[in-house]
Amino acid sequence: MEALKEILKQLPTAFGQSLMNYGIIVVVYLVVWKLLKKRLQNWRIQLKERVDAKQIKSELVNSLFTLMVSTFFVFIIYLMKSKGYTKIYTDINEYPKFFAIGGFFVFILLDDTWFYWIHRLLHHPRIFKYIHKVHHKSIDVNPFTSLSFHWAEALLLTFWIVPVSMIFPMYVPALGILQIWGFLDNIKSHLGYEFFPSWWNKSFGKLMTSSTHHNMHHSKFNGNYGVHFRIWDKLLGTEFNDYEKTFDEIQDRKKAKPIITTLLLFISLTAFSQTSNSIIGNWKDQTHPEKQVQMYLGADNKIYGKSSNNTIVFKALIWDNTAKIYNGILINPDNKEEFKIKISLKNNDTFVFSVKKFIISKGFQFIRF
Ligand SMILES: [Zn+2]
Ligand SMILES: [Zn+2]
Repeated sequence: MEALKEILKQLPTAFGQSLMNYGIIVVVYLVVWKLLKKRLQNWRIQLKERVDAKQIKSELVNSLFTLMVSTFFVFIIYLMKSKGYTKIYTDINEYPKFFAIGGFFVFILLDDTWFYWIHRLLHHPRIFKYIHKVHHKSIDVNPFTSLSFHWAEALLLTFWIVPVSMIFPMYVPALGILQIWGFLDNIKSHLGYEFFPSWWNKSFGKLMTSSTHHNMHHSKFNGNYGVHFRIWDKLLGTEFNDYEKTFDEIQDRKKAKPIITTLLLFISLTAFSQTSNSIIGNWKDQTHPEKQVQMYLGADNKIYGKSSNNTIVFKALIWDNTAKIYNGILINPDNKEEFKIKISLKNNDTFVFSVKKFIISKGFQFIRF
């Protein structure tokens, strides 16, 4: 009875930890899917965005069950440990050091193997619709998908710890690291974005799965079953043939500048060319300094010029970058007659204009003041 009380005391801690994990998922979702969405658009694995509020809502509900199951599972492990049914230990000197350090690597391989086979079993046509279908409702996966399982699947995927802990000494910190690894790797797999670098599959990373690897499992369904490593998929020929090709294609997209950056670059370059060659400002006729005109940008993004008595004399000037001239209209202030004109900036402080391809005279050369 005392032992049970002690275990019950642990329950809030276990649930608190689950909630903290969930908090990390929320933060990752907000940063990657909301805050950096535009900047990362070329990093997306699936080009078509299918996630909607309905999907997120159902993922949230499923995740709650998963959290409850994982809390219950931790509770069971505590109970077994207190009853002396397991070989889980906290004092590193209790067993040879090998169990503490090597144990982690053994567990991670075990976890990967267990996942692969349970996953394949859950894909069996006779079983699929009862359990694993819940997880596959999400095709365009996102961080919330990482906990969106049927409660039975959540239990099944971690169940291996029960028999293993009964026969194999399990050092608590090694189990802790495994748990953190599993959790982060799961988020990576359901990120919807590929963050691994282009050399990933040409290095030690070749052994491991990427976000693209599991993403393809959701979009193509009958392959790429592994979670941490590609080993089982490779051994049993269940990896999609176009996996590495797809991964490389995403890397090529990542190298291309995102549209938004290109647009911003274009706008800033245009703005720069406007300011460095800008006709905006105050000008006066070189030979008749009393003839003054103020060039300004109108609401329609075209340039206008008005004389000192506020009469518009230049209308709708547009910068033609190829010809390096402004095209627009000159209005005769006396009779309001309009002429098509071309204005060329000789340098930043002088412009001349021509009417009907005729350079009027030197007298119509304007200088900045
Ligand atoms: Zn699956
Ligand atoms: Zn998945």
